[in-house]
Amino acid sequence: MKALFPVAAAVALALAASGWFFVGTRTGQDLLLERFVAAGLDRAAAPRAEGLRVFMCGTSSPLIAPGRAQACVAVTAGDALYIVDAGTGSNDVMLLAGEPLQPLRAILLTHFHSDHIAGIADFNLASWVAGRPAPLRIAGPAGVERIAAGFNEAFALDRRYRVAHHGADLLPPELGVLEAETVAAGVILERDGLRITAFPVDHSPVEPAFGYRFDHGGRSVVVSGDTVVVEPLRAAAQDADLLLHDALSLAIVSALEAGARQAGRIRQATILRDVQDYHAAVGDLPALAASADVGMLALYHLVPAPRNFLMEQIFARDLPDDAVLTTEGMVFELPRGTDAIHVHAP
Ligand SMILES: [Zn+2]
Ligand SMILES: [Zn+2]
Repeated sequence: MKALFPVAAAVALALAASGWFFVGTRTGQDLLLERFVAAGLDRAAAPRAEGLRVFMCGTSSPLIAPGRAQACVAVTAGDALYIVDAGTGSNDVMLLAGEPLQPLRAILLTHFHSDHIAGIADFNLASWVAGRPAPLRIAGPAGVERIAAGFNEAFALDRRYRVAHHGADLLPPELGVLEAETVAAGVILERDGLRITAFPVDHSPVEPAFGYRFDHGGRSVVVSGDTVVVEPLRAAAQDADLLLHDALSLAIVSALEAGARQAGRIRQATILRDVQDYHAAVGDLPALAASADVGMLALYHLVPAPRNFLMEQIFARDLPDDAVLTTEGMVFELPRGTDAIHVHAP
C-alpha cells in the first residue's frame, strides 16, 4: 500500500509537469495553438442540405439574456444559405460555431425593429471577407431600401479602408455594398428547387411585417417573425415540418411588469406592459401548431429568453413535451425523403 504513494505522486508530478509544459513554455504554447487553429479550420466546411437545415443564430429579443443573440434563423437549402433577420450578436454566434458565411445569398427581414436588423453590417463584412461571390441581398417589406442605404452609408468609410488595406482583388468593393430587394407577400424566390414564400403577420403598429416559409426537397420550415397568432400565418404553416415561432411568456413578463411597478420604475413597467400585445403568448402556440398540423413546434425570439432552469420551466409550462425552446447553436436537420427532424443541441 505504501508503495502506491510514491507512484501516485510521480504520476501527479508528471501530469503537472506536462500541463506546465503546454501552458507555461513557449514551445508548449505554440504546439497547443497549432492544434487549436487546425481544429478551428476543420469545422469550416460548408454544410449541405438535401432537404433543409436550420441553425439558430439568435433566439432572444430586446430583453437581453447572457449568452443569447437577438433574432436570427439561418436556413441552408442545398448549398445556399439564407438568414431570416440579423439581430445583435447573431453574426458572432454563427462564426463562433464555425458556420461558414461564404454561401450566404440573402438576409430576409421580417420587419425593421432594431433586434432584427442591428447585426446586418456584421454579416455583410464577415461574408465579404469569407469570399461571398455576389453582393449581399437584403430582402424585406417596403422600407428595406432605406435599411440597406443607411448601412451602406454608415459603413462606406469602413469599406474604403478595408479595400485600401487588403486590395480590390481580395475584397472587390462592389461586393461590400448591400443590395436592397423589396418583396411583397407571395413567392419571393424559386431557385434550385428552393421556394421561399413571404406571408403577412400582425405586429401592429409595425406594418408591413412578414414571416417566411422555406420549401426544399419535400421539406418545409416556417419562420414567424414577430407576430401574434393570425390566420395568414396559420395558413402558411399548414402541414409544415417545422414551425419556428416568436413567443412571449405572459407569466414572466407580467411578473417583471408588476415588480418594476412596485419598485417605482414606471417607464420600465410601461414598456413591459406594451410588449405583451404584439407577440404570441406561449399558451396560444400549441393550438396553432395543432390546427396547422405542423410536425414540430419550436419557439424562438423568446420574450424574455430564460436565464435559468426555473425560467425555462415557467416559459414552457403551457407547452406539450415535444415542443422545443431553442438556444443559440441549436441545429434542426430535415433530410430529404423522410419525415424526420433531427435536433442537435449545442
Ligand atoms: Zn418586432
Ligand atoms: Zn423582435
